[in-house]
Amino acid sequence: MISQEHKDLLAAGARNRYLPLNCWCPNQCKFCYEKDFSKTFPQVSTKYAPLYTNEAFDFFYEKFSDFQKNNRKELDPRNKGTGIQLTRRGFEYFPMCDFFNLGLTPAQIEKIIPLQNVFYTTGLNLDLSLVRYLTRKYPRKFRLHLSVVTFDPLIRKDLMHPGIDTGNLKKICNIAFRPTYFLLYFNKEQIVSDIGILNKPALKNKGSLYIHKLYYGKFSPQIVKDYADKAEEHFKAIIYYLKGNDKKLGDISGRLRFSPASKIYSWVFQKEISRLLKTAKGAKDAAIFCSKGAYPLIRGSERGIRVIPVENSIGGCVDFALGIRVRSIIRKLRELSAGGNVLKHAFLPSSMFVAGNKFDLSADSIDLIRQEFPGIKVKVIDVPSKILHSTLSLEACFRYFLLKEFKG
Ligand code: SF4
Repeated sequence: MISQEHKDLLAAGARNRYLPLNCWCPNQCKFCYEKDFSKTFPQVSTKYAPLYTNEAFDFFYEKFSDFQKNNRKELDPRNKGTGIQLTRRGFEYFPMCDFFNLGLTPAQIEKIIPLQNVFYTTGLNLDLSLVRYLTRKYPRKFRLHLSVVTFDPLIRKDLMHPGIDTGNLKKICNIAFRPTYFLLYFNKEQIVSDIGILNKPALKNKGSLYIHKLYYGKFSPQIVKDYADKAEEHFKAIIYYLKGNDKKLGDISGRLRFSPASKIYSWVFQKEISRLLKTAKGAKDAAIFCSKGAYPLIRGSERGIRVIPVENSIGGCVDFALGIRVRSIIRKLRELSAGGNVLKHAFLPSSMFVAGNKFDLSADSIDLIRQEFPGIKVKVIDVPSKILHSTLSLEACFRYFLLKEFKG
């Protein structure tokens, strides 16, 4: 018999469309935020699912099918991907990740395929013949998100699990149909080399490439910080290389997306951000609170209104809004009020909240601000998911650097 708590956990996973992990992710990437999650957000308890016995799997499967068929609307899109849920026990974090590390049997894996579209994996414990079988049998349904990160052996040695067989991973990259190849950018040579390996299978199998910034938090090991800081110096060269070789690489721009630093996102979405801030325009004695990444842009565009950057509790180079704490906003408001600045309006980005624009990642409610500052009207500016979940094109990143150069 599985316990009620175990059932709740599996049901929460089903609602978020993934199977919760049953241990700290075995991939153990050095840059993983997961192992530090409970230190960063101690109010949120991390919940691991017990092993997937047949009974537990069947329970999950029943719930998952039910949510997929009948209750899709119940999923709060804002929570999608965070793994954080407000349950009857409070805020709980259900770690997710590599589907192929859960100890499921091939038959159980196959059962999930019609219900789920994308399967994230680093390739650890991923059987080539199983991938071949599933690709042939479910060409439309079975999509792999292959977290390659890089094939560079030295970087892999520093950051990735030594047990991932890169020979096997390359073969999987070669046969997967319409996969996403996920890379982190470190430097131009690394990207040139990784694209040299992946571009051919991407062309052959309708794959796409997704190149992401390496983030680190305050608890990340020094080596991750060093790699991440260096990578930013190389990003422009990477973009110029790809732009200059677009045709030679088989029009790679059509198969390539980026998640670069927040400042590039803010620049790309400046019109949308300015439109969102219209609600704040004209408000007297007002302040807009924003992430450090968005601050330079908002400060430049909003005249006559105070713009206040707020640190992210994850720390390190994390400068986006998810992770900003309600208590950090309160601290800023106290500072303002101690300096004799009386506010009547405070505008906060919805992207710092989960669970219906109400709670931050530390499980503190926006009402804490209202209780301490009843004279301030606190408003949440709704950042649409089009911005929150977007990735950027090669052209957008290229234009960012080009215009910066043009402006000197
Ligand atoms: S695969 Fe994801 S969850 Fe697992 S260790 Fe790596 S970053 Fe963390």
